Amino acid sequence: MDLTLSPAEEAFRDELRAWLEANHPGREPTGDEAAFEFRRSWQRKLNDAGWAGLSWPKEYGGRGATLVEQAIFSEEVVRARTPSMANVLALAMGGPTVIAHGTEEQRRRYLPPILSADEIWCQGFSEPGAGSDLASLKTRAIRRGDEWVVTGQKVWTTFAHHAKWCMLLARTDPDAPKHKGLTYFLMDMEQDGVQVRPLRQITGESEFNELFIEEARIPHENIVGNEGEGWAVAITTLMHERATLALGLQVSVQIALRELIESSREARGINGRAASEDPVVRQRLAQLLIESEVLRLNAYRGLSEVMRSGVPGPEGSLGKWHWSEVNQSLAEVAMEIAGPRAMLNESESNWSYRFLRSRANSIEGGTTEILKNIVAERVLGLPRMR
Ligand SMILES: Cc1cc2nc3c(=O)[nH]c(=O)nc-3n(C[C@H](O)[C@H](O)[C@H](O)COP(=O)(O)OP(=O)(O)OC[C@H]3O[C@@H](n4cnc5c(N)ncnc54)[C@H](O)[C@@H]3O)c2cc1C
Repeated sequence: MDLTLSPAEEAFRDELRAWLEANHPGREPTGDEAAFEFRRSWQRKLNDAGWAGLSWPKEYGGRGATLVEQAIFSEEVVRARTPSMANVLALAMGGPTVIAHGTEEQRRRYLPPILSADEIWCQGFSEPGAGSDLASLKTRAIRRGDEWVVTGQKVWTTFAHHAKWCMLLARTDPDAPKHKGLTYFLMDMEQDGVQVRPLRQITGESEFNELFIEEARIPHENIVGNEGEGWAVAITTLMHERATLALGLQVSVQIALRELIESSREARGINGRAASEDPVVRQRLAQLLIESEVLRLNAYRGLSEVMRSGVPGPEGSLGKWHWSEVNQSLAEVAMEIAGPRAMLNESESNWSYRFLRSRANSIEGGTTEILKNIVAERVLGLPRMR
């Protein structure tokens, strides 16, 4: 892949940079509700200016931009330290899944309110007994006339407390082999049959929830793809989760690392020497710099693969696995350098928060062990484990 931007791409980047500088909404407020509303109004502002869903087709509210422009956008918003958009799961996963597998009617109905953040989405895949082995899920959907009646439990459902729609994977044929009896639904969260209970994380936030589903109703027309073909649709969602976020995440690592290197010049070790002069710290920082560069180049490799084939492939698993390791090491080194001062949350990167939040990186979106299995079997072509 040629990593130089064309004059048109450079012009696009400069226009975006200028817009972000002029419209930056400032620092995100604390508190779940306030932060969420802040992100929602930021997304609306981006959408009004035509920046949300950049690479989505124009007829569904996108801009029909190229994947390189989308990649430039993903990098620049992180570089400018803008807040995330409120509807992140729908933008990164739900929308692309509807574009790939949905009907024309579904695309027209669901995509515009994703972009405007009027309808927030969550992902109801994991269950108490089905995480890594997702295909063994038990949530059951039974057809009654023109609708499906769903009963079961989901867990770790990020943003379910804000969501209007849930990408729900449920078992519709208990007699079929486990990957074949699943169907992918869009479930309306605003109904009595759906109860959302928040779970508190190590950071103190409640980003995710338990979802109790008791005879919830879903119209037949809300199936994405075909009945019994939910596994293939779910894989599209997961591939997008792992690949789409990679570009922004690697920039976030680069920014945090730069700040860490800077702060290592100020921080003093027990012998009074600057941390940046300590040979062990220097070696760890150098290693992180090398790894973050590998992360960046692999993210571009993933992008060129998507440009070639049109869809993200299993290579995205490598990027997600590597990112979680680099991000966790970065936060660990930062905590060691800052020592007790890390608790004061003085730095822009907020090390103690970053350290605690990064523990989830090797679990969310597929655990590292599972991603290693995918890379072994589907990228390297090694024999299957089972
Ligand atoms: C912050 C966060 C947000 C999340 N958001 C969502 C969400 O919005 N929607 C959603 O559906 N899910 C969400 N998840 C759930 C996430 O996808 C699961 O936690 C993950 O897939 C692992 O499943 P599990 O927790 O059931 O662990 P398990 O599958 O029980 O795994 C336990 C351990 O065993 C290992 N293991 C399991 N099987 C194998 C194997 N075959 N080979 C080697 N090792 C194995 C795992 O790697 C892990 O270390 C979220 C999780 C986190 C942490």
